[in-house]
Amino acid sequence: MASIYTVNDETLYNIARVLGGEDGVKIIEILHDKDNITVEELAEITEIQINDVRKLLYRFYNHSLVTNRRFRDKETGWFIFQWSLQPELVEAYVHSIKQKILRKLETRLAYENTHEFYHCGNPGCPNTTFEEAMETVFHCPNCNEPLHRVDNLPVIEFLEKKIEEIKEEMED
Ligand SMILES: [Zn+2]
Repeated sequence: MASIYTVNDETLYNIARVLGGEDGVKIIEILHDKDNITVEELAEITEIQINDVRKLLYRFYNHSLVTNRRFRDKETGWFIFQWSLQPELVEAYVHSIKQKILRKLETRLAYENTHEFYHCGNPGCPNTTFEEAMETVFHCPNCNEPLHRVDNLPVIEFLEKKIEEIKEEMED
């Protein structure tokens, strides 16, 4: 497994948006261009309330998007926190998301490979498994029309292709 995964800006901002909305994106955009910024500086540049900036930073921190370092202000004796992006950990976060998606796709693929599906042909009706179709003597539980075997090979091929793509991305 490679130790460095490249995460593009689009992915980074998408994660920021999921975790922190548009304010979150603003903060990550600034941290993307400049390291070691204080909460006060971020609040001033973005015009977001200091408390909200702090909340967002800790949320990002909990998801390994940002990191901080603290030192004591020589004049006041107070601790000052400076915040920066944590690029490697962002990549690790993206990697863990991909792993979750991969597991879901593999579970679905196993399900598709081990089940037969039936459908009535009515676009508004869901697929029925063999077991469900047995119960209704091969009539749609939704509209009662007769059920026909569904060829799920295209679904299986789609899932296999997706799984392959994600595995390749993760090896890069
Ligand atoms: Zn139906």
